[in-house]
Amino acid sequence: MWGKIYKIDKHVEKNVVMFTALFVSILTFIGGILSIISKLNLQLSIFILIISIFYIFHFIYIKIWNLNKIIKYSITIFSIIFQNFIWYNNYWSIGPSLLNFFFLNVFILFIWDFKHIVAFTIVIYLNLISLMLYELNHIELMPSYISEPVRIIAVYLGLAIILLVNLIYTLYLKNNYVKQYQMALKSDQLKSAFLANFSHEIRTPLNSIIGFSDLITFEDIEPKEKEKYNQIIQNNSNDLLMLIEDIVDLSMIESSELKLVQSSFNIDTFMESLFQEYIPKSLDLKNIELIYNKNNSGIILHTDLLRLKQILRNLLDNALKYTEKGEIKFGYTHSIKKNKITFYVNDTGIGIKGKDIELIFERFMKIENKTEVYRGVGVGLHLSKRIAEFLGGNIRVESTFGKGSTFFLSLPVTLKNHSN
Ligand code: ADP
Repeated sequence: MWGKIYKIDKHVEKNVVMFTALFVSILTFIGGILSIISKLNLQLSIFILIISIFYIFHFIYIKIWNLNKIIKYSITIFSIIFQNFIWYNNYWSIGPSLLNFFFLNVFILFIWDFKHIVAFTIVIYLNLISLMLYELNHIELMPSYISEPVRIIAVYLGLAIILLVNLIYTLYLKNNYVKQYQMALKSDQLKSAFLANFSHEIRTPLNSIIGFSDLITFEDIEPKEKEKYNQIIQNNSNDLLMLIEDIVDLSMIESSELKLVQSSFNIDTFMESLFQEYIPKSLDLKNIELIYNKNNSGIILHTDLLRLKQILRNLLDNALKYTEKGEIKFGYTHSIKKNKITFYVNDTGIGIKGKDIELIFERFMKIENKTEVYRGVGVGLHLSKRIAEFLGGNIRVESTFGKGSTFFLSLPVTLKNHSN
């Protein structure tokens, strides 16, 4: 239990160690150079510079290869030894060096788990007791400053540096954790909104299916009406199925279980079939014209056909859902040089406000509209974005509120062969 409580985020831990290594390295480097310039003790100056190199090595190592346990042990143990060295060469307890132990303590607190914190704290306390006993037994050997004012300045300067480090540490950690806390809170709120939406989205089609399948059994209903009811049942069953499929896909993506099935296919045939599929859907909506901008590149794409179709269907469904009048244009452009295909779906719909552009790709994010209630649980775009990333690409949107939106899906392409 304690181990869990004391574990901090890996990313924060890495940054704390990296920042500390860099900071100590710079500080000791400046100290070393200053003592060489002021011709103090040459051996000591060189030793300080070696310490600086040691810390910068840790910084570079973590930056390139990441933080590991050996580096954590090495930096902690070395820092404890290093503190004693500083203490010995900096006027023992009459100088500012003992304050460094406070800094060391905070450092250990943030990068280690409970077990190690206890172990290192015991080591530090034993270390302090040894220093105290050493001083008490060698009072006659105690070094003294050139003058008392120099000592006072040194002590306050030392404290100022420690306070500064402490300030940076605390601000960094506070910032990180407050941010994480806010993110967790928001995710919680989104989840609650999703659950409310979800139950509504599941009930609406279910009620229709139950109601119309009951009606259809009545004998005095005209065949034409029956056909209409049948269509309603079909549509609602499809809506329900799509919703369930989205939720299953989302949970598969979140547990990294999504498997891709790659195949090779002609992009123009693929787009044409998508167009044919959507003509009847757009005809259902009176004022919308669906336009497919043919490209006829003859490119053979090698990717997961069903997943690609899923993303484009989602973009087209959204375009149909959020457009009242005008047109929906879709197609693709390709850049052989960049090995990239960009699909686009452009609509003349309600558009998206600038502040919402980033939000719409978040899980369960549904932008509520004051004048119109649109169905949906806010999963589609998030799912599309995640699948696009699985396929090695990305999705972005350009939109003007009140005028319309264009969604772009870019995918890297392995051009198997090119019929043009
Ligand atoms: P849903 O449509 O189920 O709410 P999505 O994840 O597909 O969820 O979309 C998230 C939000 O993005 C929607 O609530 C809507 O506000 C906005 N959105 C998506 N597509 C469009 C579009 N073509 N035009 C305007 N707004 C859109």
